[in-house]
Amino acid sequence: MIPRRMWVLVSAVLLGGIAAVVVAQQDMSKVEIKTEKLADGIWVLYGAGGNIGLCSGPDGALMIDDQYAQLSDKLLTAMKAANDAPLRWVVNTHWHGDHVGGNEAMAAAGATLIAHDRVRERMMEGQDNKFFQRKVDPAPAKALPIVTFSDTTELHVNGEDAVAFHVPPAHTDGDVVVWFPKANVVHMGDTYLSSMYPIIDLESGGSINGLVAASESVLKRIDDQTKVIPGHGTVSDKAGLQKWHDMLVGTRAAVAKLVKEKKTLDQAVAAKPTAPWDDVWGKGFMKPDLYTKVLYTELSAAKK
Ligand SMILES: [Zn+2]
Repeated sequence: MIPRRMWVLVSAVLLGGIAAVVVAQQDMSKVEIKTEKLADGIWVLYGAGGNIGLCSGPDGALMIDDQYAQLSDKLLTAMKAANDAPLRWVVNTHWHGDHVGGNEAMAAAGATLIAHDRVRERMMEGQDNKFFQRKVDPAPAKALPIVTFSDTTELHVNGEDAVAFHVPPAHTDGDVVVWFPKANVVHMGDTYLSSMYPIIDLESGGSINGLVAASESVLKRIDDQTKVIPGHGTVSDKAGLQKWHDMLVGTRAAVAKLVKEKKTLDQAVAAKPTAPWDDVWGKGFMKPDLYTKVLYTELSAAKK
C-alpha cells in the first residue's frame, strides 16, 4: 500500500487543484519564468504549473493557460518581454488550478477568457475529489471563462488560424488542444506530459481511452517538424508524442489483462504491470503504483 501522506502529496502537487496546499509548499516568489521561442510569434513560458503557450503579434497576445495567481505579474512581464503587445485572450486547456489560477488577473489585464463548456461548469461547481483527496472551492465569477464552446473554436489572430478543439474525455472532460497550423505548433494541455505517466482525473470525467484518442487525433495532424507543447515537461515533437501514445496503449492493455483475470486492486498493483515503461515514465510525481491504481479503477468500473 502507498502511505496516505504520499497520496496527498502526489495529488496536491500534480493536480494543482489544492492550489492553497501547493502554494503553501512552494515559494512562488522564487519561481522564475523561462521563455523559449518556438516559431515566429509563438513562445512557450515555463514557470510553476502548466506550461503556457503564447501567440503574440499585431493583433495582441493570446495565452494558453495561466498557471497560478501568484505568478500573474511575472507572467505578464515575461509575455511583454517576448513581444510588447497587450494581452487580449486566454484559452484554458482544462479546469485544474495550475492552468486557470491566473484567470482573474489575466481578465483584469484585458484578456477574454475562453474554454470548453465543462471548464466553466466545473469551476462554478467546485469539487470534492475523493480519489485525489482534493477540495476545490467554486471559482469567483471574474475567473470564469466567458466564451465557451462544446467542440471547436478558431482564433484568427496574428496571421494564424488557430484551432482550439475538444478531445473525448481524457485528462478531464473539458480538455482542449490548441493547434497553430501555420507556425506548426500544438499545445496539448495535460493530455500529454512529456516525461511522466498521465494523470487521469476520473472524478473530472477523465479516461485512458480519451487520452489515447487525443494523442491519435494530434498525431494525424502533425509532422516531424511540429513543436508539441505538453501540459508539463519540456517541449517535444511527433516522435515523443508517438512514444507517449504507445506507452498509454501498452499500459492500458497490461492492466486490462489483470482486470480480466479478476485480480484485486492490491494484486494488480503487486503484479507491477507497468514495469516495462517505469524507467522512462515512472520517475515523475505519478509513480507506477498510483498510475496502476488509476487504470485499474477505471478499467474495472468499465467492466461492471
Ligand atoms: Zn490538469
